[in-house]
Amino acid sequence: MGEITSAVLPEMLSVWQETLFWQPDNEQQMQFQRLYELILEGNRQFNLTRITEPENFWEKHLWDSLRGVMPALKEEGKVNSSFKAIDIGSGAGFPGLPVAITKPDWTVTLLDGTSKKIAFLSTLINDLHLTNATALIGRAEEIRKQKQHRQQYDLALIRAVGSASACAEYALPLLKTQGQAILYRGHWTDEETEALTPAVEKLGGAIESIEGFTTPLTQGVRHCIYLRKISATSVEIPRPVGVPV
Ligand code: SAM
Repeated sequence: MGEITSAVLPEMLSVWQETLFWQPDNEQQMQFQRLYELILEGNRQFNLTRITEPENFWEKHLWDSLRGVMPALKEEGKVNSSFKAIDIGSGAGFPGLPVAITKPDWTVTLLDGTSKKIAFLSTLINDLHLTNATALIGRAEEIRKQKQHRQQYDLALIRAVGSASACAEYALPLLKTQGQAILYRGHWTDEETEALTPAVEKLGGAIESIEGFTTPLTQGVRHCIYLRKISATSVEIPRPVGVPV
């Protein structure tokens, strides 16, 4: 397969509408297109993503990123002050960038432990004129100890970063009480729910719901695990920085 360097994203307005009851406006569609072009360009320099074909990019990066947060969008009215989201291990910006484009009134922090990714994300944020997004270099297990990040976020998103229990360990300490974490997963079993439950409870959280769905173009199996922070995370989590999960 040849390298894709420039291509046009499909609009898929009826699919957005039928699946998420939402459609991008013209400006958001232009930002999605620009994001796609910038990632294709960035791919020539860095190994960012293998998902480059237009429909594949639309489904696996844009649609998948927004499918997970749709329940959170319905809840945001309950929040008084400005809504703060963090995307942990954002990589090339997923799910955080599509969320920042869709929700200009949220502030979205894109966290990654790799400086090259953060440098690239900063250029994306600039080029897309996203005033509500910030790229932050750091590891989740470090920033959760820092006052300016610990228990500061309303929403934590985490996709393709590690085991479900590691994702819960990264996300829950960053949340305010009543905040929500969304773990983006592929296949999921009842055994995984059983294994995750005590880990989440130890961190002051609860599994609120689990949604299984298929992606609209290729029927890929996906699950989102919605966690709620019930009480302050009091235990110091023992996993040291850099220990593989
Ligand atoms: N979330 C993106 C996605 O779904 O396309 C990227 C997934 S990529 C497989 C995993 C990313 O998480 C990498 O960019 C890596 O640097 C970052 N990462 C892994 N562990 C991390 C940690 N503990 N703290 C911060 N970033 C981490």
